[in-house]
Amino acid sequence: MITNVPSANDLNKSALTAFFAAWHPLIQLFDDFNQSFGLEDPTYAEELEDYYKHCQAELETIYALAAQASELAMKARICEVSPFLLLLGNGASFGETASNIDFSELRTIDAVDLPNAVNAICPIKVSESFKQRFTEIRKLRNKITHLGGAGKDSAPRDVMRLLVEQYAELWPDSYFLNNWIDYIDSRRFSFFHDGKWTSAEMEFADIQETCFSLLSKGEFKKLIGFPKAQRRYICQNCVYLGGLHRNDMGFGDLTTAFLLDDNTLQCQLCTITSKIERKACSQEDCKGNVISIEEPFPGQCHTCGMDQ
Ligand SMILES: [Zn+2]
Ligand SMILES: [Zn+2]
Repeated sequence: MITNVPSANDLNKSALTAFFAAWHPLIQLFDDFNQSFGLEDPTYAEELEDYYKHCQAELETIYALAAQASELAMKARICEVSPFLLLLGNGASFGETASNIDFSELRTIDAVDLPNAVNAICPIKVSESFKQRFTEIRKLRNKITHLGGAGKDSAPRDVMRLLVEQYAELWPDSYFLNNWIDYIDSRRFSFFHDGKWTSAEMEFADIQETCFSLLSKGEFKKLIGFPKAQRRYICQNCVYLGGLHRNDMGFGDLTTAFLLDDNTLQCQLCTITSKIERKACSQEDCKGNVISIEEPFPGQCHTCGMDQ
């Protein structure tokens, strides 16, 4: 019999890991320059161009991971219907054997055939523009794998746009920020997350502003599900869980909660929904008017974090 048959869930998890293994260093790559020079500062346009040249090797890895993420996510969709459909098109033949066959030893469908297979087999299809982007990433990945280089410079902003589009199409109903922090929490460095000096929330807070400012209005809405201009609030759960209240980062560095309606707030990082009341904050210098009324942090302002 065939053993170790993959599950759609496992494949999808691996797809998300590959996606964020591309996304996280891409944002860090922007953030490193932003912290030292300023991405939007025209005085450093020449330095930025030079910096991007230094980024090419890392961008190649990012492309390879992006291709892997898309492949695995499409395989997950096919697997949802039946894992054995992943063996399509390879004329699997079996010799005389007494032992079990491990699924991973069987040849699965070629990457190039995945979009059409998904569209033929699965209830949710991939779009024409997705197919084009997938071909583009895959070609570049193959060049890198077989020829040891992409043969052209990639513009990091273009790579970012591409990743946004891929995520929005592959995981339309997911919590992007929640998926991202799950990835941060799964990395090797999470061993050092003590919640006091370092945590996944602190790592995220460090690059949040760079990421949010780079996303266009349309991209922000696609990924996070709210208009970029909508006011963001702090989530006490994330702030306390991540130990942000203990160090210099302050509350304002992690603003991941949005109003769903006039008395409900939802954090996109931890996905917790909580009840609030609209009332002016008692702090003199705070213009906030969203106050928590729920345990474990009743009476705290979602703008400045102060008790009322
Ligand atoms: Zn939260
Ligand atoms: Zn306040």
